Amino acid sequence: MSSDPNCIFCKILRGEIGAVKLHEDADTLSFMDVMPQSPGHCLVIPKRHAANIHEISADEAAILIRATHRLAQAVKLALQPDGIGVYQFNGGAAGQTVFHIHFHVIPRTSGQDLALHARNMVDPASLQPIAAKITAALQS
Ligand code: 5GP
Ligand code: ZN
Repeated sequence: MSSDPNCIFCKILRGEIGAVKLHEDADTLSFMDVMPQSPGHCLVIPKRHAANIHEISADEAAILIRATHRLAQAVKLALQPDGIGVYQFNGGAAGQTVFHIHFHVIPRTSGQDLALHARNMVDPASLQPIAAKITAALQS
C-alpha cells in the first residue's frame, strides 16, 4: 500500500496524527474534516496514496465513490440536512489543498453559506457528537 511520508492524509492513515474517524475498510477511510465548512463535513480517502483523479484507476474510483455514496446516505439519515454537496477537486487551480485524493461530503442548510474552505480548525472533540450520529447511521 503506497504511502507518502509528507502527506497529511497518509499521516492520518499511519496513525501519526489524529482524526475523528467514521468508517474504515480495506481500501478507504472516512473521517471528519477538521476545518468543517458546515457541521457534519466529512471526507473519504483511499488508503493508497494518489494525488488526484488522474492517478487512480477506474476501479479505484469506483471503490471511492461507493464509499462516498454510503457516507452521503449515512449523513442524510443522521443529520437530515436540506441538501448535501459531494465535491472533489484536482489541482491547486481547482481548489485542492491536500494532494491525496478525497471526496468531500458537506451537509447544507437552506439559506446558510458555507464556512471558508480549509480555513478555521475546530477542536476535534467538538466533532465527536456529530461523528457518533454518522457512525450509528453507517451501521444501521
Ligand atoms: P481540498 O482543498 O484538498 O479539496 O480539501 C482538503 C480538506 O482537508 C479541507 O476541507 C481541509 O479542511 C481538510 N483538512 C486539511 N488538513 C486536515 C487534517 O489534518 N485533518 C482533517 N481531518 N482534515 C484536514
Ligand atoms: Zn497521502
